[in-house]
This record gives sequence, structure tokens and C-alpha cells, in this order.
Amino acid sequence: MADPGRTALTDALGRRISYLRISVTDRCDLRCRYCMAERMTFLPRDQILTLEEIALLADLFIARGVRRIRLTGGEPLVRRDIIDLVRRIGRHVGAGLDELTLTTNGTRLAHHAQALADAGVRRVNVSLDSLDPERFAHVTRNGDIRPVLEGLAAARAAGLAVKINMVALKGVNEDEILPMLHWCDDQGFDLTLIETMPLGETGEDRTDHYLPLTQVADSIRRHRALAPIPHRTGGPARYHAVDGLKARLGLITPLTHNFCADCNRMRMTCEGKILMCLGHEDHVDLKAAFRQGGLPAVEPLIDRALRLKPAAHDFRIGAGAAPAVRRHMSVTGG
Ligand code: SAM
Ligand code: SF4
Repeated sequence: MADPGRTALTDALGRRISYLRISVTDRCDLRCRYCMAERMTFLPRDQILTLEEIALLADLFIARGVRRIRLTGGEPLVRRDIIDLVRRIGRHVGAGLDELTLTTNGTRLAHHAQALADAGVRRVNVSLDSLDPERFAHVTRNGDIRPVLEGLAAARAAGLAVKINMVALKGVNEDEILPMLHWCDDQGFDLTLIETMPLGETGEDRTDHYLPLTQVADSIRRHRALAPIPHRTGGPARYHAVDGLKARLGLITPLTHNFCADCNRMRMTCEGKILMCLGHEDHVDLKAAFRQGGLPAVEPLIDRALRLKPAAHDFRIGAGAAPAVRRHMSVTGG
């Protein structure tokens, strides 16, 4: 429950911060080409916050007025005992926290879907860039689509609302976008398309596959009318109703249309760094302070982090351009 004795989280531009994304691990069982390099060096375990530390910090953020928390990674469901953390944070749902959600690649969702629902999770975002097993294996560098499809079925059976996240990739899955929208509609899912962002070295040039969503939306409109709707899920996606379909179409357009003016988000990395913007390196490190001085040592650092929030990110993708930030999305938490 928000603590009335504490000041709410408001940045220097007056933006109220109510949404926290927590990356619970930098590890993953897939290696999506736009996200990770084929060979990744993961952080040593002692540099990663324990689940207990994450839970205590989440309590503090909720006391400071955070209303939505999304657990992400890396792949959150590969972290051992993750459901303990979900249960622990889930206790706040309806009592200070409006929503606890998760972004997952779905490979372990069949195993965890019911436990997530029982712990208070109502919605999950599942990343799926292709329904074709070979393409899926290509994009994820050898991933198997079958457990993901089983995970999606289990999520539906557990009563979880599902949104599919699909990174739009020129020459890779652009021909699958409309079929994916129809498939989501059949399954009772929503679909959000994402522009590939220049985060971290992946060993591949993202310019080759960058697909502006303005272009994608135009090609969808040739088949079905799109109408902007006010539906929001707290994140950066802007939604459209699709003529003749129940599935809503979300567009996340960090490159063609930045959405910073009403950004309400902050991120905590699995190392306990607070990032106020996905596109900037500035951060405040909570871990050392927390391990030495507990929560009282952390509070002033959170206020310092608020002052660091920039007005906007500045992503550019161009031939040979270096990533906007060196951190991979898997460390920051997507
Ligand atoms: N492993 C989980 C998953 O894939 O859903 C959660 C973490 S992943 C980093 C979160 C989201 O970020 C995924 O939907 C993924 O497609 C997206 N993502 C990763 N790297 C990206 C990039 N460079 N540009 C755009 N989206 C990216
Ligand atoms: Fe893993 Fe998610 Fe990154 Fe893919 S996008 S490599 S599933 S963290």
C-alpha cells in the first residue's frame, strides 16, 4: 500500500512514475538475434540481487506509489524459485498494486501458468516472432516452438490474458504479421508489434532488419481498417481496433514515434541498478547501498534516480551505427 508519509515518485519534468519493470535475471534459454549475442557472458551470481532483496525493494517501491510491476529479464521463468517472488509481490495486488505482470518467452510457461494465476498474475506478455518452427528456430538461434505453444495453451487454460509480442523484422517475419494477427484473434490473444531497438551488441547489424511500424501499419490497413483506441496497459504500446477482429493491435514505436512525454516507467536491473530510460546509460546503483545500509540507505538513491530521468531517448538505426547503449535488453529488462 502506498505510504502517505512518503513522497510519490515524480521526476524533474513532473512525470509521475507508477510503473516498475524488474529484470530478475540476465540469463535466458534462447538467443534471439536482435536481443543477445550468440555467446553471452552472464553476470556472476553474487552480482545478481537475491529474490529476497528484490521482494524488499519491490515493497519499498510500492510504498512510494508504484502501481504496476512487470517481471522480465532475460527470461524470468528460468530463475529458480521465481514463483516464490511472484507470490510475494502478488500479495500486494489489490492492496496498493494494481497489477503484477510478466514478460516471458513462454518456453516454461506450461509448467508455471497455473501458479502465476494463483499468485495474482492476470496477464502475461509472451514473445513470439514467428509461428513457423524453422523461422522460430532461426530467430531464436535454435529454439523449439513447441513448448511455447504449449505454454500459451496452458496460460489460456489458467485464465491468463495473453498479449503476443512480435518484433517486426524486415526480411524475416514481415510476411507473417497479418497471419499472426489473425492467429492471435483465433486464440483470443492481443498482438503488439515492436520496432527493433539498438541495445547491446548482438553480432548482427540491426539495420538489415529494421522495419518501421508506420510502414507495417500501412500494409495492414490495405487489408483491414485500423482505428486508434484509448486502451492502455501502462506501457508504451499504442492500441488500435482492427476491423472485423477482436484482437487489439498494439504498436511500440521507439524509433518512428517516441513516446517519452508521458513515460511513467522506471526499470530495475537484475544487479539492482535503477535505470530511468531504456535509451540512456545513466543509473543509480541500489545494491551496494542496500547490502550495507538496508532500505533506509536506498531511499535517497531513488530520489537521485528520479532526477536522472531524461526528457527523451534518442534511438537511431543506421548502417554501421553503434548501439545507443551497450547494455543488452536482457540485462535492462524489456
Ligand atoms: N525473455 C522474455 C521475452 O523474450 O519475452 C523477456 C525479456 S525480453 C528482453 C522482453 C522483450 O524485449 C521481448 O518481447 C523481446 O522481443 C524484446 N526485445 C529484446 N531485444 C530487443 C530489441 N533490441 N529491440 C526491440 N525489442 C527487443
Ligand atoms: Fe531471451 Fe527474451 Fe532476449 Fe529472446 S528476447 S534472447 S527470449 S531475453
